[in-house]
Amino acid sequence: MADIIPLLGLPYPPQGRSSYYIPCPCCDSGRKKHLNVSLTKDVFRCPRCGFSGGLFDLYAYYTGVQREDVRAELVKRLGGDDDAKPSVVPKAQGSRRPAPSPQYLDNPATDVDTRDATYRALLAMLSLASDHWENLHKRGLSHEVIAQSGYKTTPAAGTKALARKLMAGGHYLAGVPGFYRDEKDRAWTFTNNQRGILIPVRDHHGRIQGLQIRRDNAEKRKFRWVSSAELTDGCRAEGWVHIAGPVREQALLTEGPMKADV
Ligand SMILES: [Zn+2]
Repeated sequence: MADIIPLLGLPYPPQGRSSYYIPCPCCDSGRKKHLNVSLTKDVFRCPRCGFSGGLFDLYAYYTGVQREDVRAELVKRLGGDDDAKPSVVPKAQGSRRPAPSPQYLDNPATDVDTRDATYRALLAMLSLASDHWENLHKRGLSHEVIAQSGYKTTPAAGTKALARKLMAGGHYLAGVPGFYRDEKDRAWTFTNNQRGILIPVRDHHGRIQGLQIRRDNAEKRKFRWVSSAELTDGCRAEGWVHIAGPVREQALLTEGPMKADV
């Protein structure tokens, strides 16, 4: 797959990545990027519109060459043995690349502005349970800080309805950690396998990079990233750093995002 990327004039992956997003030629406009290209699996897929396929499909789509003629054309353009079996041509080329690190096999997260918009809209639809409000208040957070922080209680039910409302509002769920598709009915939904406080983790522009959950019934590892890794069309969280409040002379970096908000 890596060999045909320059032939099609498509952007290269960010350094170290074997899976990344480019604008989907079927459903994206402007700067949106929903087409996931996996260089290790030689496949592409848009979780938004369903446009998907393999190496030859991608080449055929972008060049207008008939799919059955793609192999011959690639042999001509990339060089190689015309007697080789179809799958051997790109594989032999690809084998010169170093093996990608397995931690990058998940779908990468989409851009921070898209994540921020989706997470803001999600949190706006959720509420903060009274026991969670008490907990935060006891930790020294004022009414104002709690209200401004965006802390919310994890949704107990109705996660598919939340996902539907977000999509109806024009928000993207693909590449946003926590969102994934139900294996059975393919409907988008949001992970809710444990109750806790959702904590927005922001960058220095105040944009929500990701969410952490403070789990109610956990003794160890009380704070965890909200992630939908290893779920259908899911996405892994990346361990973003939280910076509280506007940029100060010395940025306040702490171990956990909640401590920084206190
Ligand atoms: Zn698409």
